Amino acid sequence: MPLLVVGSVAYDALESPYGKVERTLGGAATYFSVAAAFFTHVNLVAIVGDDFHPEDEAIFRKRSIDIEGLERANGKCFFWAGRYSENLNERVTLATDLNVFAEFKPRLPEKYRDSKYVFLANIAPGLQRDVLHQVNGTPKIAAMDTMNYWIERTNSELRETLKHVDILMINDSETRQLSNEHNLLRAARHIFKMGPSTLVVKRGEYGAMLVDKSGVFCIPAFPLEEPHDPTGAGDSFAGGFMGYLAGVGSKSDAALRRAMVYGSVLGSFAVERFGLERLLSLKKGEIHARARHFAKLTQFKL
Ligand code: AMP
Repeated sequence: MPLLVVGSVAYDALESPYGKVERTLGGAATYFSVAAAFFTHVNLVAIVGDDFHPEDEAIFRKRSIDIEGLERANGKCFFWAGRYSENLNERVTLATDLNVFAEFKPRLPEKYRDSKYVFLANIAPGLQRDVLHQVNGTPKIAAMDTMNYWIERTNSELRETLKHVDILMINDSETRQLSNEHNLLRAARHIFKMGPSTLVVKRGEYGAMLVDKSGVFCIPAFPLEEPHDPTGAGDSFAGGFMGYLAGVGSKSDAALRRAMVYGSVLGSFAVERFGLERLLSLKKGEIHARARHFAKLTQFKL
């Protein structure tokens, strides 16, 4: 089953205690697509400027990622710069230059309109809804991400978009901010009233938690000795999660649990090196080996 994603394709400047890169391909939709393409065919909707490099375009072309929906515009690509603290847990945004992104009006190519699996990466909630409206019928799974910026500045737009999605995938501070609840389970109950029937809370080095009507499922983050750069970990998690579900064409409880494992696996690979580097050298066999490792990591007898 093809998986539709809309979001940012960007150039990033990244700094962490492990090094620095001046300009590397990034963006939420980029990390998502590269991670998801290990499991299924991805249809990408985004915008780039005339500085978008053919070598970066080849990253998508070489994979199972269709870029008919990647619009070209005059101007520069979205640019984002961030610096991480010593323990990699905090990050400051040094620059967000919207560039061509400021005029972005996502338009779905005809062949994307029957999508049954849809992921709305972190962009303005009004644009997320525009994309959903262009999809024919009701998707089997519509999932979305968001961030503090939209929760604070476009809360009513965000509430409107939330009414139309099944799964909300956000981090713990965003969960608390959106629901005004500190406790994540109470926060989930609050969020269910806004529309989504499933909440996936991404908790960085503490793993991830899924809450839905059948209960709660938690998965740890894969223990790594030397993570280098957390950029895109959440988007890679979302790509592994949604890619797996679209690949198996299911949203059963068992499939959702396995999707959590594959999300965590892809997120863990993403942080091992700077930017996309590790995801680009990753092999399917390594993904499955780490998933098996996860099963061992969390197994116990009573
Ligand atoms: P994450 O680490 O999950 O926050 O994702 C980082 C990626 O999101 C980077 O590659 C950025 O290019 C991209 N990004 C940062 N800020 C924004 C924004 N306001 N809208 C869309 N994408 C963004």
